[in-house]
Amino acid sequence: MARVLIIGAGGVGNVVVRKCAQNPDVFSAICLASRTLEKCDAIRDDMEHPIETARVDADHKDEVVALIRRFKPDIVINVALPYQDLAIMDACLETQVHYLDTASYEPPDTPKFTYEWQWPYDEPYKKAGIMALLGSGFDPGVTNVFCAYAQKHLFDEIHYVDILDANAGDHGYPFATNFNPEINIREITAKGRYWENGQWVETEPLAVKDVYDFPEIGPKDIYLLYHEEMESLVKHIKGLKRIRFWMTFSEKYLTHLNVLQNVGMTSIEPIRFEGRDIIPLQFLKAVLPDPGSLGPRTKGKANIGCVFDGVKDGQRKKIHIYSVCDHQACYREVKSQAVSYTTGVPAMIGAMLMVQGVWMGKGVFNMEQLDPDPFMEALNRHGLPWQQRELPID
Ligand code: NDP
Repeated sequence: MARVLIIGAGGVGNVVVRKCAQNPDVFSAICLASRTLEKCDAIRDDMEHPIETARVDADHKDEVVALIRRFKPDIVINVALPYQDLAIMDACLETQVHYLDTASYEPPDTPKFTYEWQWPYDEPYKKAGIMALLGSGFDPGVTNVFCAYAQKHLFDEIHYVDILDANAGDHGYPFATNFNPEINIREITAKGRYWENGQWVETEPLAVKDVYDFPEIGPKDIYLLYHEEMESLVKHIKGLKRIRFWMTFSEKYLTHLNVLQNVGMTSIEPIRFEGRDIIPLQFLKAVLPDPGSLGPRTKGKANIGCVFDGVKDGQRKKIHIYSVCDHQACYREVKSQAVSYTTGVPAMIGAMLMVQGVWMGKGVFNMEQLDPDPFMEALNRHGLPWQQRELPID
């Protein structure tokens, strides 16, 4: 039985808290803390299971330390924004409490997400006898576990990996993002990057396009992006020759994004407006629909997974492992759309395996470094069943 502190009361935090509450035999006490206390209280008031709430500004390590000392959690689940990762990791180190997040650290003024800032915590965490699990969402997260599973059970060597993230949900708005708009737009407008033959190859933003026919969704335009799980997977997958990440975008979405970019609304450079500095992208976030409000309106499915191409017993094989998630079914269960759901469920599962001692270690871990089997089994039990299909060799 463990006490869990969840930081961040946004779309993902809402799912994590409700999924933890569904497992009271694992999580005996839950505290939801965020910058805006009212958001925590609104979630609490809508739940039958009792939880505590607290206000914390997680940019300040000392505030997190004080909250940890007061609530005494066994683990902190960080589902605030990537900007808070280091302050929360520092607070966990100081109080010797296990840590989990779903997105790698990114400095607010530099749109570059990488594990380079968090991996150096490995030694201090080892010395303190605590564990940090990085990227326990869907991608990163489940996609890393799919890779570990394929490596353990399906292949002797994996040569090519394509991570495919398709969201065919329709929320009815002309333009909205499915998770934090600032983080989402920073990710999409950055240069693309993939890894081939030992090096990173950079592409212009959204310049590489293809079409993929997804099970239960149908053919969709997919665009090559950089995504952080590739940074750790290139270190841990044997025989890898190439790994790429693809995401679906509709033409309507990209047209809006182009216009916003062309007029400067996606910039993170401060501009002077009516006597004060504002950041255009933060202003844009304020006028776009709150991703947390999309749940009741979003219809359709998401399909996220990995296509592996490699060798088993001397034979070439191509296998697709994926999970399909229905937006409306998620809303019925936890009042959220599928993007927050597919992130929040793996965060709960990662924390559950850690506090149960199944995935326990000392130091900093990416998901593929741990045994995939208990996680794969838990996905089926906790709302994200996965499937596997063999593909023809082309
Ligand atoms: P939201 O913007 O909906 O929620 C973020 C929450 O964090 C808000 O409640 C916000 O508070 C709170 N917060 C922000 N700054 C602070 C702070 N300084 N101290 C305390 N709380 C703070 O984002 P999402 O829920 O959509 O995303 C949460 C995380 O999940 C992000 O890091 C995102 O990158 C990650 N993610 C990971 C995915 C994966 O598959 N691995 C996929 C999708 C998201 P306030 O309401 O006051 O602004």
